[in-house]
Amino acid sequence: GLTERLSGVFERLGGRGVLSEKDIDEALREVRVALLEADVALPVVKDFISKAKDLAGGEAVIRSVKPADQVVKIVYDGLVDMLGGEEPTGLNLALNPPSVILMAGLQGSGKTTTTGKLALRLSKSDRKKVLVASLDTRRPAAMEQLATLARQVEVDSLPIVAGQSAPDIAKRALSAAKLGGYDVLILDTAGRTTLDESMMSEAAEIARIASPSETILVADSLTGQDAVRTAKAFHERLPLTGLILTRADGDGRGGAALSMRHVTGLPIKFLGAGEKIDQLDVFDARRVAGRILGQGDVVALVEKAAADLDQAEAERMAKKLAKGKFDLDDLAAQLRQMQKMGGMEGIMGLLPGVQKVKKQIADSGVDDSIFRRQQAIISSMTKEERKKPDILAASRKRRIAAGAGVDVAEVNRLLKQHRQMADMFKAMSKDGGKGLARMAQM
Ligand code: GDP
Ligand code: MG
Repeated sequence: GLTERLSGVFERLGGRGVLSEKDIDEALREVRVALLEADVALPVVKDFISKAKDLAGGEAVIRSVKPADQVVKIVYDGLVDMLGGEEPTGLNLALNPPSVILMAGLQGSGKTTTTGKLALRLSKSDRKKVLVASLDTRRPAAMEQLATLARQVEVDSLPIVAGQSAPDIAKRALSAAKLGGYDVLILDTAGRTTLDESMMSEAAEIARIASPSETILVADSLTGQDAVRTAKAFHERLPLTGLILTRADGDGRGGAALSMRHVTGLPIKFLGAGEKIDQLDVFDARRVAGRILGQGDVVALVEKAAADLDQAEAERMAKKLAKGKFDLDDLAAQLRQMQKMGGMEGIMGLLPGVQKVKKQIADSGVDDSIFRRQQAIISSMTKEERKKPDILAASRKRRIAAGAGVDVAEVNRLLKQHRQMADMFKAMSKDGGKGLARMAQM
């Protein structure tokens, strides 16, 4: 399995000092086989490997980080990126209610169950007024199944009227949602056991009638490659906006998520994690990446590698400072570091005798958004300007301010702050560390 393969690779790499291109290639060759074994589709694997290689190639080899850990981090970062990055994507609701969420997918994929789960989340966590409606005219018990779920999660369901067609029920549901002042209407559709034309055209017609703000494909992660084919076929016919993968609780490998995301380019919004009505998780690329790698402790490993990288960066910075050099790139690195440490609050928590300082900072109106704005200012500068801020004449400052969306005064404040820091570091590097000792007493 994947776990054994990867740990095999890492063990072999672990013995050596520095990660070479050959190491990367060798490791990625094994990772490739491992991903295929995890049922990730071949084109997806190819693409992933080339991305991981780019990432690995671009990154300088850090001597203080074990090569094995560095490969884990590269592979893991690549997976997270491919799964949609670290930002969780919630549901997009229309500006004018009712927002319609259309659920599509094969029969048995978990549409009805997931409709109930979403209804619960939207009504309890998001305080929305939710109406659900079943358009499943094929299975008589299906409408009753949704009505039962609705009662269980305490949301309203559209009254069942026998003999209506799915498009007619969709129209009735829409007007009921408008008249009843509902925020969200979830339409649960019928599925077939296999892809067929009549299901597709019915779903497409319902989408036209309801103009949903979300059209979600519900797919069973356990069906692997079939799920990928299904996703592709649905995506060609329906304006899908996102995916929900069910039975993630039984999917030890997580390969389906990676393939589905890659083939459709659609964000995975939630994972169904069990039969119970509250078992719906917001999709978390990091967690899934950890699962695909199949190592429970991979996240811990990655965090450790990241901490080692930070440490290496800190040492690099210290060396530069000791020489009395501190340019705007260094300031940007510092700002990033501060944000990583949990912003102002986090940093304050690390300082001794913080209460007084905390109050001063609160009084001065400094908050975390300043870090972001300052980073925006620095990234609006050219390389040369970052190295030699002295060349920043008024016209350049105006250009930078416009680029960062701040006013010139804020650019000036940042430059002044940088000058003060640079002077301070210079003075400290001259007095042989006494300055640092003073700073620690502050
Ligand atoms: P539909 O035909 O697409 O509406 O599918 P259903 O919602 O009726 O679900 C079919 C079966 O899958 C039911 O027995 C559900 O309890 C089960 N199911 C749905 N989602 C999940 C999930 O995330 N995990 C597990 N283990 N079972 C699920
Ligand atoms: Mg159903």
